[in-house]
Amino acid sequence: MTINNELLAKFEGKCWHKTTNEYPFRCAICGQSETDWQGWFICPHNPDYSTSPADRERLWFFLVRDKKEMYYEFHEWAEFNYGQGMYRIDFDIWLMLPMPYNSIPEWLLLLQEWLELPEVVERFGWEECSTCESKGGTSVLGFTVVCPKCNGSGKVRAEWAKCVKEGR
Ligand SMILES: [Zn+2]
Ligand SMILES: [Zn+2]
Repeated sequence: MTINNELLAKFEGKCWHKTTNEYPFRCAICGQSETDWQGWFICPHNPDYSTSPADRERLWFFLVRDKKEMYYEFHEWAEFNYGQGMYRIDFDIWLMLPMPYNSIPEWLLLLQEWLELPEVVERFGWEECSTCESKGGTSVLGFTVVCPKCNGSGKVRAEWAKCVKEGR
């Protein structure tokens, strides 16, 4: 299993930067740019969770602090599916250990596998509709105008959830 950096970055609420073709280079989606050591404008780098311990650490704390409910469910799922037998006792420590033959920690692969489960996408893969502010529509002269973006549900697919669907 390879790490889907785009999925994980979007789960963190980050833009998955795509560079413009012409100088000054910047991200074509969010418009941000950075300068390199020579002062040239470049598109910001995307995180690489498989090689960068700093990116992994930030992702882990985002999950544990900001997405507590998801963390508890992920933990329960991981423990149930992978935490049997010899790993049972120190499961939290085991979660943080690197894989035996590469530098990717076990928890990163498990988190990705969990995020890609259809039931997880269905349960957590939504965000508030920004067009109607989750009201589902507006009332005009007694008629209800259904929001075209969310179809009146008040919810839209989270970016990371779209990423799972596209990946299939
Ligand atoms: Zn961007
Ligand atoms: Zn809406």
